[in-house]
Amino acid sequence: MRLKCPICGREYDGPVQRCECNEPVEFELLRGEPYIGKTVWERFYDFWPVEPALEFSLGEGDTPLVKSKIGGELGVRLYLKNETVNPTWSFKDRGTFLAMSYALKAGYKTVGTVSTGNMAASVSAYASRFGLNAKILVSESASNEKLKAVSVYGGDVIRVKGDYGRLYFESLKLGESLGIYFVNSDNPFRVEGYKGIAFEIAEEVTPDYVLIPTSSGGLFRGVAKGFIELKESGLIEELPTLVAVQAEGCSPICRAFKEGKEKIERFERPKTIAKAIANPYPPSGNAVLKLLREFDWLCVAVSDNEIREAQRKLAREGLFVQPASATGIAALRKLVENGRTEEGAKVVSILTGSGLRTLSQAKGGTIRECPLESLENCLR
Ligand SMILES: *Cc1c(COP(=O)(O)O)cnc(C)c1O
Ligand SMILES: [Zn+2]
Repeated sequence: MRLKCPICGREYDGPVQRCECNEPVEFELLRGEPYIGKTVWERFYDFWPVEPALEFSLGEGDTPLVKSKIGGELGVRLYLKNETVNPTWSFKDRGTFLAMSYALKAGYKTVGTVSTGNMAASVSAYASRFGLNAKILVSESASNEKLKAVSVYGGDVIRVKGDYGRLYFESLKLGESLGIYFVNSDNPFRVEGYKGIAFEIAEEVTPDYVLIPTSSGGLFRGVAKGFIELKESGLIEELPTLVAVQAEGCSPICRAFKEGKEKIERFERPKTIAKAIANPYPPSGNAVLKLLREFDWLCVAVSDNEIREAQRKLAREGLFVQPASATGIAALRKLVENGRTEEGAKVVSILTGSGLRTLSQAKGGTIRECPLESLENCLR
């Protein structure tokens, strides 16, 4: 197991979570070859830093890539990577599964996370599946409705009063002294698990662009690392252009990218309907920024209205996603309008999580009433 800091280059042999310089660390791939097997964990066996504990899998990954008619309106070939069909309805399950495989092997009895939404549900579900205890730290403001969907799996859900931003670092520190393995948003194993999205896409299409809703930056780093490792292993020839997509109301990475800054800065007073991507100070922000610059990739911020419109469009094609997951389609429209994409380009948008998680935010369609006696008329 060898880990390296993508920012300062320091190397580590042990399973540390962050570099001494405070940036995230990531695994170095020693060799990578595809295998024959059923699941993404088996087909890409060589690419994981830890043996996937398949007996505890809930069937995460191997999600459908769906051709979308929205592409036709925009003059591109659009594919949707439907991550909403994962066991707890978001791509988080891929990373949670791999991180738990490690935690179990390393002898941990308790795992934890800092989240209020999809990651909290994913970690409590997989902790139960793996037979581990879970400590789920949530913010003071998390709604009861949301927390029900987390606590239903079991686990110890704790509302922490105080600065939510500091919780990420405090949890890692206390986890180390208490023997709790915290699987936060950009945990190195979690990021590795997300590589599977890139592997599966590459098995089906050779995309020109991949649109990635981005908050902490863990997903973006994972998808990027997946494509880079495929290229280094000689399995693909070209890297696609990756697009980090943020909400205008909380876009610390896009802002730093546009302003030519080397480090991200805290985004004050974040405000967006896309709650799942509203981290005002992303722990992998600098690492994402470095990737964007190195590969000449893109960062696009979209407004809440653009997000709502994209969410509606997707639902009208049969895919109900949460606002954060509709941002990719909103960004695609902008890229096309600004002439950034070529006619007929192959584009993949990652639909990160299900709309059922944010049902109270959704705008439904019309519903008619009809007395039974008039049913014939109503149906005409
Ligand atoms: C977690 C999440 C994201 C963002 O992922 P990061 O790794 O934090 O950048 C995007 N969409 C949904 C639905 C999520 O749950
Ligand atoms: Zn470092």
